[in-house]
Amino acid sequence: MAVQATLNPFEIAQRQLDEAAKILGLDRGMHELLRWPMREFHVRIPVRMDDGSVRVFEGFRVQYNWARGPCKGGIRFHPEETFDTVRALAAWMTWKTAVVDLPLGGGKGGVVCNPKELSERELERLSRGYIRAIAHYIGPDIDVPAPDVYTNPQIMAWMLDEYETIMGRSAPGVITGKPLAVGGSAGRGDATARGGMYCIREACQVLGITPKGATCAIQGYGNAGQFAHILGEELLGLKVVAVSDSKGGIYNPNGLSAKEVIAHKEKTGSVVGFPGAKSITNAELLELPVDILIPAALENQITAANAGRIKAKIVAELANGPTTPEADEILFKNKVYVIPDFLCNAGGVTVSYFEQVQNAMMYYWPAEEVHEKLDRKMTAAFHAVHKMAQEHKVHNRLGAYLVAVQRVAEAVRLRGWA
Ligand code: NAD
Repeated sequence: MAVQATLNPFEIAQRQLDEAAKILGLDRGMHELLRWPMREFHVRIPVRMDDGSVRVFEGFRVQYNWARGPCKGGIRFHPEETFDTVRALAAWMTWKTAVVDLPLGGGKGGVVCNPKELSERELERLSRGYIRAIAHYIGPDIDVPAPDVYTNPQIMAWMLDEYETIMGRSAPGVITGKPLAVGGSAGRGDATARGGMYCIREACQVLGITPKGATCAIQGYGNAGQFAHILGEELLGLKVVAVSDSKGGIYNPNGLSAKEVIAHKEKTGSVVGFPGAKSITNAELLELPVDILIPAALENQITAANAGRIKAKIVAELANGPTTPEADEILFKNKVYVIPDFLCNAGGVTVSYFEQVQNAMMYYWPAEEVHEKLDRKMTAAFHAVHKMAQEHKVHNRLGAYLVAVQRVAEAVRLRGWA
């Protein structure tokens, strides 16, 4: 189905669901229920600024669906946040938690603000104010927020503290992505990239590719991209030949060492100028003759304009939304194996769920145990999606939707909601 890039993200999310609903033959009531958030909050947050004035911020929390368990999803602090963006992201969280078979639903939150213009103390007061506005509607067994764009573990610690102060009791499971000292989980830092590596390993296996020595290009060199480089070498023996950041890319067909490139980026602020490598643009990186391409930066990078020139055998989407719907069709026709974003980058939410479980037990696992449990979850999710896509002769993104929507619909049906 062709979806125009200009549409609002919630309309895109609804159209993606419509397509899955048609294939699954969902009846009208079920389809209608899954098209919309079940509960939404729209709040105003007064914040005392450092100069003594008061500014009022607009905030959202969307609890999309909780048929499979408490809602789960991050909080974004962004100047261009809209209700529809939050609705779309909450829908996608519902499908993401279902595809990895977590006993959770989907949610998302946002505050319209520019954190770069706020002082540390103003940011703390805003974070606490947001939680005061929604404290009675979230909780470990209702809705569990986490960090997202421009929010971080420190902000989660302030939010946890505000919630516990209001409730008068300890409740670390109300929020995940916390620092270790206040109930965070080992293994959260590299969880997204690690989950992606387990998916790449399985994709290599079904496609008959030997990971050791397979060539790989990574677009984006932040949390997801850097850990993909480190773990690609460490876990799979990949030969990473190209990486990039917002300033440009580097290419060396003989391979790039993660340790050396990260040290160079730390010293100079970019991967560009790394000794012995050729400079390339971000657009050129995407079209390199590699076995595995990992978009780990922005949305809408692989479009109808360049999809036909992608030479990779596997595209592993650590970024959210790097491929447009038109490009999906082209890649599918050209037999490029796409591991779709909400499967490939689900390692983060999976370890967030493990954090919630450890908080409830008041007992914490070592990193090895987290990795082993993550591997099992991601591997099972990968094969469920692969099997569904093969059975219906559709691309993996639609396969992932079919798995997720079917699981949520089953829970809704069993509860007698539709
Ligand atoms: P980040 O901010 O740590 O890093 C982003 C990287 O992208 C930076 O290196 C930046 O220089 C680079 N970049 C920016 N513009 C670029 C451009 N035009 N071309 C190439 N590179 C560019 O972010 P992150 O946490 O690594 O997230 C990256 C992607 O992965 C996002 O789409 C995010 O939604 C997704 N993701 C991340 C996580 C996580 O746990 N970190 C979880 C799920 C999904």
